[in-house]
Amino acid sequence: MLLLLRPKLMKRKTFIQNTITAYLGLMITPALLSSCRKEDLLPDSNFSGKVIIIGAGAAGLYAGFILKSLGIDFTILEASNKAGGRLGKLTDFADFPIDLGAQWLHGRNSVLGDLAQNSGTAISVDNSEARYWFNGGLVATNPLNWDFEDQDNLPDVSFLAYAEQNGFGAEYKFLVEQIAGDFGADSSEISAKWTKAEEEEWNSGETDYKFQETFFDLIDKNITATISDRIHLNTVVSKIDYSGDQLTVTDNASINYNADKIIITVPITVLQDEDIEFVPALPAAKTEAFNKIGMGAGMKVFLKFSSKFYDENIGGGEICAAYADEITGKTGNDNILLAFVMGKQAEYLTSLGSDLEITNALLSELDNMYDNQATASFMDAHVENWTTHPYIKGAYSFSTIGIGDARSIATESIDNKLFFAGEAMNINGHHQTVHGAAETGYREVINLLKSE
Ligand SMILES: Cc1cc2nc3c(=O)[nH]c(=O)nc-3n(C[C@H](O)[C@H](O)[C@H](O)COP(=O)(O)OP(=O)(O)OC[C@H]3O[C@@H](n4cnc5c(N)ncnc54)[C@H](O)[C@@H]3O)c2cc1C
Repeated sequence: MLLLLRPKLMKRKTFIQNTITAYLGLMITPALLSSCRKEDLLPDSNFSGKVIIIGAGAAGLYAGFILKSLGIDFTILEASNKAGGRLGKLTDFADFPIDLGAQWLHGRNSVLGDLAQNSGTAISVDNSEARYWFNGGLVATNPLNWDFEDQDNLPDVSFLAYAEQNGFGAEYKFLVEQIAGDFGADSSEISAKWTKAEEEEWNSGETDYKFQETFFDLIDKNITATISDRIHLNTVVSKIDYSGDQLTVTDNASINYNADKIIITVPITVLQDEDIEFVPALPAAKTEAFNKIGMGAGMKVFLKFSSKFYDENIGGGEICAAYADEITGKTGNDNILLAFVMGKQAEYLTSLGSDLEITNALLSELDNMYDNQATASFMDAHVENWTTHPYIKGAYSFSTIGIGDARSIATESIDNKLFFAGEAMNINGHHQTVHGAAETGYREVINLLKSE
């Protein structure tokens, strides 16, 4: 009967190849993206002012990287004590480096696919398959057997409502939650219609890659390192005054920074929570658009064991939808199992309070799946909860019921002074990803130059 949303948990797959990518009428090609010469981008731009970029995640760093290549003056203000945003690296937990945030490069047909290739970064195909806990055992095929590919005119209802409308009872509920979780969402909040519509835009490729080192290193070594003198860490932006020609950004230590243009790349949660005051206030249509974009809870828990009792393939249950062998694509001897917990499951684990309780809940589920071997061989855990990170506050954006063109409205420039980037502002189906975030940084540099 229905649907399938996603053949593999945790990994983006394209369902319909889309051959055209257009950003605001500009064709983006890999050659153009890797060259980034000013004459390629905007031959007739007269812009010679100062740009402030807020946020040093993939979007902000990539915007800075391009501005530097164009010889344009810029500064990046970053709230936390490191560049990378939702990319991070853990080096003292295992005998191989671990990605605390994003770890898969979803397809190579993107600015970051180009960067990996041009920089000689070692990546390998990750062929591991999703498995599903059902009727007391792990099965290779999702019992929901959803297949969106053949479904036209999906209703604008939640995944959960859609499953119920198609006759799936309570025993399937946590499988629906698993699929929603892969999109970083609660199954009652994510739209079947808009998720499919945005999936159809995906064109960066179907293969998932893992880094021999980390995704963080790709960005850190090839982008951050080239612009590190322009990045101010520990600088929490609290106010943006765009009332005059000269724009002023104020941080929470009351230090002012002046600019001619501002690129805002903070997570959508930061905009929704109004952590930054805008003077004058942003138009109502803009804030309404921000609030229509979803962003749910998400965490990664790394569990270290003395023996490898678990399967190489990805499996999941009611506490965590997706466990993965962290060694895939890497070299090392330690047995590290990743619990990739998103959406409602991450909300639940966060509600338990402490890292110890989160770890115990996961061990209990694994004991049930693997005859108590988890607790018997448990050595250590690292919990990376992105939901409680004060400047991230979630995992990644998803498409809510009624989202419509909210992402497009959210990205529109304000008075050709403020420009909006970040994964949630990606309107070509690559939201939720690092390369999608980088694409928006690139796009907003072009828009900024075109605005002059
Ligand atoms: C657990 C997890 C796993 C993921 N896995 C993958 C994956 O495998 N592959 C993939 O492609 N994507 C993955 N993603 C998604 C990917 O990490 C994000 O889409 C991408 O990194 C977002 O980049 P960004 O620049 O839009 O935002 P961010 O990286 O969030 O950067 C925004 C920056 O703004 C800063 N900031 C916030 N408020 C302020 C303020 N007031 N003043 C100054 N700075 C501020 C933040 O500190 C942050 O550094 C994953 C995400 C998570 C959480």
